[in-house]
Amino acid sequence: NAAPQTVEGYKIIKEAGIGTFQIFQETYHQPTYKKLHPRGPKSNYAWRLYGLDRAMIAGIDDVGIGALFGLFNWKFEVMGLIYHTIHLEERFGVGPHTISFPRIEPAVGSEISYNPPHKVSDEDFKKLVAIIRLAVPYTGMILTAREPAQLRREVLKMGVSQIDGGSSIGIGSYSQDDPEKVRKSQFILGDNRSLEEVIQDLLKEGYIPSFCTACYRMGRTGEHFMEFAIPGFVKRFCTPNALFTLREYLNDYATEETKRLGYELIQKELERVNNRELVEKYLERIDRGERDVRF
Ligand code: SF4
Repeated sequence: NAAPQTVEGYKIIKEAGIGTFQIFQETYHQPTYKKLHPRGPKSNYAWRLYGLDRAMIAGIDDVGIGALFGLFNWKFEVMGLIYHTIHLEERFGVGPHTISFPRIEPAVGSEISYNPPHKVSDEDFKKLVAIIRLAVPYTGMILTAREPAQLRREVLKMGVSQIDGGSSIGIGSYSQDDPEKVRKSQFILGDNRSLEEVIQDLLKEGYIPSFCTACYRMGRTGEHFMEFAIPGFVKRFCTPNALFTLREYLNDYATEETKRLGYELIQKELERVNNRELVEKYLERIDRGERDVRF
């Protein structure tokens, strides 16, 4: 999630080889936005709203959008996200690669976060996840560790495709012995499980935990990505790549129990993949020590 740039600024960022450029509008409701950002560089609603248009003009065709739920009526924010998607599709032929929908969590130094004016209940949160999934079937839906583990398990079934694990927030917070860790944290996490625990949980639920970023590196972005993603063909890449990245994780980092669960799942998935022989060959390459193999 980054600040909106000028077209020239985006060109420099693109040159550096970024993946997805993501801007959260925070709230699509203009009067609320104005109230929350009365002055300073962030106060220009339209500059932020059209930030990704400028990114597209500069040639960054892989973008993400998001809203912070709790600032205004959740139904309005969902409508904002969907209309933003329609606008990008109509103007550039490319919708958002990812949509994020964090709920406000208590954050140090932010009074509003302790008592959000439009707090979203768990029930409504599940509804909004399902609505976004149905409205934009091709997009990656990102759920952060702000949400508690049980709710994360539930909304995975409703279409969330990207979660984090072992997250630590705040400047320098991955440092093991930082006594200032809590004070520096941006907000409080609801899910404090380690990456290993999250992976094990996903495996037990029958999901393939994937670390895949192949599309960015294979040049499948923008219109090219939409050609694969909208009709669902991208699955032909996603499933094998998920198996490859999972195998790498299991071989390099996992505990014995996670390895057992993971190998079992890979075996089961192999029964269903299209080009099993080729996928098996790639898995063998990983077992021989090759890394970053991908379709
Ligand atoms: S192949 Fe990988 S990067 Fe591309 S859409 Fe599937 S999971 Fe995402």
